[in-house]
Amino acid sequence: MPHESRRSFLKSAALAGAPAVAPATAAPTADPGYRQSAFEPAGSPRKLTENLFLFEDTCNVYIVRDGSRAVLIDFGSGKVLDYLSALGVTKVDWVLHTHHHRDQCQGFHKAVARGIPIAVPAHELHLFADARNFWRNRRVFHLYYVRNDFDTLTEDVPVARTLADYSTLPWGRSEFFILPTPGHTLGSITLVGSVDGKRVAFSGDLIMAPGKIQNLYDTQIQYGGSEGIDLGIYSLARLREQKPELLCPSHGEPMPAPAEAITTTIGRLTDYYRFQTGGAPVEEQRPYAVSPHLVCHYLTMSSFYALLSNSGKAMFIDYGSASGVHFSTFNAAAATDDRMRFVEHSIDNLRREFGMKSIDVAMPSHMHDDHMNGFPHLKRRYGAKVWCYENMVDVFENPRGYNLGCILGEAFKVDRSFRHGETFRWEEYEFEITHSPGHTDYQMALFTTVDGKRLAFTGDAFFPNAANEGTLRHNLIFRNKVENDSHLKSIRNLIAHEPEMICPGHGRPYPVDRAILEATEKKLRRQQQFFFDLLPEGEVDFALDPSWVSIYPYQIVLAAGSSQTLKINVANYGAAPMKLEVALVTPSEWRVTPDVVKIEAPPRSKGSGSVQISVPRGWVPPSPRLAIAADVMRNGKYLGQVTEAVVEGTI
Ligand SMILES: [Zn+2]
Ligand SMILES: [Zn+2]
Ligand SMILES: [Zn+2]
Repeated sequence: MPHESRRSFLKSAALAGAPAVAPATAAPTADPGYRQSAFEPAGSPRKLTENLFLFEDTCNVYIVRDGSRAVLIDFGSGKVLDYLSALGVTKVDWVLHTHHHRDQCQGFHKAVARGIPIAVPAHELHLFADARNFWRNRRVFHLYYVRNDFDTLTEDVPVARTLADYSTLPWGRSEFFILPTPGHTLGSITLVGSVDGKRVAFSGDLIMAPGKIQNLYDTQIQYGGSEGIDLGIYSLARLREQKPELLCPSHGEPMPAPAEAITTTIGRLTDYYRFQTGGAPVEEQRPYAVSPHLVCHYLTMSSFYALLSNSGKAMFIDYGSASGVHFSTFNAAAATDDRMRFVEHSIDNLRREFGMKSIDVAMPSHMHDDHMNGFPHLKRRYGAKVWCYENMVDVFENPRGYNLGCILGEAFKVDRSFRHGETFRWEEYEFEITHSPGHTDYQMALFTTVDGKRLAFTGDAFFPNAANEGTLRHNLIFRNKVENDSHLKSIRNLIAHEPEMICPGHGRPYPVDRAILEATEKKLRRQQQFFFDLLPEGEVDFALDPSWVSIYPYQIVLAAGSSQTLKINVANYGAAPMKLEVALVTPSEWRVTPDVVKIEAPPRSKGSGSVQISVPRGWVPPSPRLAIAADVMRNGKYLGQVTEAVVEGTI
C-alpha cells in the first residue's frame, strides 16, 4: 500500500535524528484504526495534594493542575478526560508517558481526538510512533531475546515530542526533569517536578511499593538474564539522589517517604540479583587508583581512565557505558532508528573519592562506541572538550558517512585533533600521539608519564595473553578497516616508545617489557605472511578491505524534490595507477549526473570522484529504507556492483 509505505518512510526518517521535538506525525485519518472494547475503570480522581490527583485506570493516571490547565502523566484508557471539567481543567497541555507499555497508553486515540499532544521517552519513540513496524519485525520463533517488548501497542501513536534523558520539559511556571530510569523497560523515564511546593517523582513502574516491584518478567531481556534488576538498582539509586518528597508509581499507592521506600527496594533487589547471578550489580562497582594521578575503572563496558591534574582538572581517556550489561542490553535493543542509551556513571565518585573538580578533556583511544558513547553526554552536561587523532574527526562529526564496525550514531563536534607523531602538553603532563591501526584504522596510541611510570594508552590493540605466555593478544575485524601491515605498525610504535605499562581498552593496566613486545611483533609478522599466502597475488589489501571502493556518505538522508552530491572514494592498494569507472544503480526515477564517474588513483594512494543525485518531487519510495549500488569497472575489467549505500528520506 503506497500510502502506508510513504508515511513510514517519512516517519522513520523523522525519528532518525532523535530530535528533542519530533515533527508531529499526522493523525491516522486514512486508517480506520482498531475496534475498542466497552470496558471502563470504576472510580474517580483522588486528590493527593491541592493540584495533584490520581485516577486509577489500567495504570495510575496523574493529573497535575495549574489553574485551568493540566498535564497528565500516563493515560490508561483515557477515561480520565471525562473528569477534568469537574476539576476545573479546560485544557490538557500534554500527556507525558513514563514508558511504552499498553496499559500506560492504550486509550491514546481519545487524546488524539481532542488534539492533546503526546510526549514519550526518547528511547521508546519507535515503540509508540512506529509500533506497526515493531510488530512487522519482532521475532516470535527461535525466541531467545525474551525482553517483554511484546507489551507494545498494536497501532502507531502520533507523537508530538520526545522526552530526552537529562533534559527539562518546561510547563507553565514549573518544569519536569527527565531522569533516565531503565529497569522495568529499557527506555523508561522518571519525571521529577515540583507540585504544590513538594518535589514529586513520577517513576512509572520502577518501584511499586517499599520493597516491591510490579513483576519480574519485565526485568528479563536475554534468556536467563536479570538485566532489568541490575538496571533498576542503578535507576533507584539515581532517583534517591534526586531527593523526591513524594513518589508516584504507575501501579501501587503513592509513597510519602521515598528515600526509605527506595532503600528497602534496592536492598531486596540486590540480594535477589546476587542470588540469581552470583555477581554484584553495577551500582556497587567503583573505579580504583592505579597511582595517585591515574584512576581506572575496568568493570565498565570498556576500561576508562581519568588522568588527574594537581589543578583538579581531569582528562578522560575513553568513557563508555556503565557496565557490560548496560552496553549489551541497550545495544541489542537499539532499533534501526534508535540510539543506544547512555546513562551517567562514576563521575560523582571521581569527585568525592579522588578530588576531581572538572572534566576538561576527553580523548577516545579509538572510534568504537563501547569506548566513547558517553562523550556526547560529557560535552553536553560538563562542557568537556573532545580531542582525538585526526582520522577519527569525520567519523564522530559525520557518523553516517561510513560503514564501519561499532559506530556511534550520535554526531558531535571535535575540539582539537592531532597528527601521527605529534606531541602536546595538557596541564603538567607531556604526551605523544601515534596512529595505531590494526584493531581499527581509527585508533591512536597515547604515550605519557604519570607518577613516574611510562604509560601507553592503546585502546583495543593489545591485551595480555592468558593462553600463550610471552606475547600479547591481538584481534582482527575486517569491517574496521585493516591493511596487511596495520598491526605491525602498532607493535613497532610500542617497541619504539618502550612503555612500562599498557593501559588497555578492556581490563586493568598491565606491565610490558621489550621481550614481550618483540615476541608479539614476530607473531604479527606471521599474521602478515598468512595474508600473503591466502590472498590473491597483488590483491592482498583489496581482499582485506570490504570498502576499498565506497560511497560517501554511506547513509544518505534526502527528501523527495532534493538533490545531493555524493563522493565515490577508492583506495588503490596496488603498485600501478588505477582507472575506475563507476555507475550508480538507483531507482529509475532519480537523475544521476554524470552517468559514469571516472576516477584515477595513483599507486598506493587514494582517489575520489563526485556524482549528483536528484530525487523528483512527489517521488514515493518503495520502502522506508532502500539501498543503491555502484557498478564498477576497474582498469577496463567489469567487477559488478561491488559497493552500496543506504537511503532514508526526510520530511
Ligand atoms: Zn509497565
Ligand atoms: Zn574497539
Ligand atoms: Zn572495545
